[in-house]
Amino acid sequence: MIMSGRLHARRTDGVGTNVWVEFTQLAADYRAVNLGQGFPDFSPPPFIQEAFCKAVGGGPPMHQYTRAFGHPPLVKSLAKFFSRIVGHEIDPFEDILVTVGAYQALFCAFQALVDEGDEVIIVEPFFDCYQPMVKMAGGKAVYVPLRPKVEGGAVLSSGDWVLSAEELASKITPHTKAIVINTPNNPLGKVYKTEELQMIADLCIRHDLLCISDEVYEWLTYDGAKHVKIASLPGMWERTITVGSAGKTFSATGWKVGWAISSGQIIKHLKAMHQSSVFDCATAAQEAVAHGFEREYQLFGTPESYFQQLPAMLHHKRKKLASCLESVGLQPIMPEGGYFMMADISSVRVDLSDQSTNDEPYDFRFVKWLIKEKGLATIPVSAFYSPEHREDFDKYIRFCFVKEDSTLDAAENILRKWSHKK
Ligand code: PMP
Ligand code: GLN
Repeated sequence: MIMSGRLHARRTDGVGTNVWVEFTQLAADYRAVNLGQGFPDFSPPPFIQEAFCKAVGGGPPMHQYTRAFGHPPLVKSLAKFFSRIVGHEIDPFEDILVTVGAYQALFCAFQALVDEGDEVIIVEPFFDCYQPMVKMAGGKAVYVPLRPKVEGGAVLSSGDWVLSAEELASKITPHTKAIVINTPNNPLGKVYKTEELQMIADLCIRHDLLCISDEVYEWLTYDGAKHVKIASLPGMWERTITVGSAGKTFSATGWKVGWAISSGQIIKHLKAMHQSSVFDCATAAQEAVAHGFEREYQLFGTPESYFQQLPAMLHHKRKKLASCLESVGLQPIMPEGGYFMMADISSVRVDLSDQSTNDEPYDFRFVKWLIKEKGLATIPVSAFYSPEHREDFDKYIRFCFVKEDSTLDAAENILRKWSHKK
């Protein structure tokens, strides 16, 4: 008999549950219409699928290991593409690490940069993995919320959620190592304006902090909102780690290709984490993503560019979902970017007394009820908050609108039937 203390390490304490595992399974068990987990249920564009097929047929090297820190054609095309955007000459071999999705880029960043006792400031709502990743690195997460500014009416846009410079500054201590931001934000859809990024940059520079900027939805902005890279602001290149994802860029989340870009002085430490854990990412997928970026480099800014076509397509889907939610009395917060739309459920009255444990946040119980009783899967927004602030934000649920119109129609049917019965 092995003693239970031997079966785990302390770093696994408190990181055992995960909203994706639980709610994705529940959606599958109940065969729910799935507007929960964020992935497109339509195919990636033909050019990138063809690039993948070509890679697979490309002979023996495509099926063997490639360079540990990124397949050379991919790091070269990422460097060429992003140098133009950041306004800084990116070295393909020094300044980039290719990873298993943005997840592994984030994991390597926290492992490589956060020491025991370091504090990491996370802006809420935040993509949930930042918190366990900081903890597993031995650091302490410190939270600062985006707050809805309510001036005589409902909060209608993600742009109405703002970060107070004073509140952010008040969280900085001598132990602070980094600030984590996510723009466009998951789950809110906020796209940070240049002035907001400049405020964060000023604090990073004044207090000598790093900035981890998760920009996986960088091409998905709507209604004229413009994505700005904090790394492109003066003095920020050498202290920012920018995280990206081919999954989100080319609508191929299952390929799990991501990257971290920063100065070589920082990336070399992320490389050290990568070489001792994953070492090397799938060659053919990297080859295909390299082709995708080469194509987009040539077509950049033209109507043929996928980085124009995808947001244009999603703009319609976003509108479709928003009108559906409004028509059934769920107030949406219009996202300026990303895959998701949050909606206020505080006006909806449902009897949740049957929903398992009452110690779960309200939105968790609501979403379980919606899956089990109505067959519609969404994600509870309090999952994107720290335990300290969870209760203040448990009256929103998150819908993913990156779905076939037929999926959105099926969700609409469910919501309409339900609203007629109410
Ligand atoms: N960051 C954010 C904000 C996300 O929403 C996700 C989920 N896709 C990731 C990182 C992880 O991305 P990937 O699928 O490329 O690992
Ligand atoms: N980023 C996606 C989302 O927010 C998927 C996350 C996941 O499956 N872990 O829904």
